[in-house]
Amino acid sequence: MSAEPSPDCPICQRLHGFIAEWRLREPGWHNAPVPTFLPAGGIDSVRLLIVGLAPGLRGANRTGRPFTGDYAGDLLYNTLNEFGFSRGTFAARPDDGLVLINAAITNAVRCVPPENKPVGGEISNCRRFLTPTIAQFANLRAIVTLGTIAHQSTVRAFGQPVARHPFSHGGQSDIGNVRIFSSYHCSRYNTNTGRLTTEMFKSVFADVRRYLDDIAG
Ligand code: URA
Repeated sequence: MSAEPSPDCPICQRLHGFIAEWRLREPGWHNAPVPTFLPAGGIDSVRLLIVGLAPGLRGANRTGRPFTGDYAGDLLYNTLNEFGFSRGTFAARPDDGLVLINAAITNAVRCVPPENKPVGGEISNCRRFLTPTIAQFANLRAIVTLGTIAHQSTVRAFGQPVARHPFSHGGQSDIGNVRIFSSYHCSRYNTNTGRLTTEMFKSVFADVRRYLDDIAG
């Protein structure tokens, strides 16, 4: 199975129909499954994978790059720059020149869901792409999962029971030689309500940086 759905992926009827609607309303938008954002160094340079939930309607679904064009990207890309997982200035557009370093970003669900809420069947359908996405990175050592849905889908992509690897903000769990770091999602809702502060989010990436540096010797 390919790691990327076809641009007109028909597997989830509801999401396929939602995208068809938005193709009519906004023909200039991406309006298709959003592909994994890969680093300039290519697949074998990836040591960290970030797994988000699903493209935002006016964010990744509009621009075609994960976390690009909506609020969640500001905190994510600023943090990646700070911890050396990207360089360049994030300007919320796919041609801003921002480059990932040893890191890739994907979503548990590749198509925009109505109201940012994929249903269970859509999350499990789309795992057929998450599993090969993870498997293609031969040098992967860390995954950051953003929110419970991304976390559980990632654990299931490894064929593991979620009860053995529960989600908690700041939690860590090893599956084989990959350490999963879980974080509350960096959504506007979570940051506005104070559930996730900038410091809490940065602290997860500080843990990842330390871990990757330690195992690199
Ligand atoms: N944009 C994405 O690509 N993924 C998310 O989870 C949120 C916003």
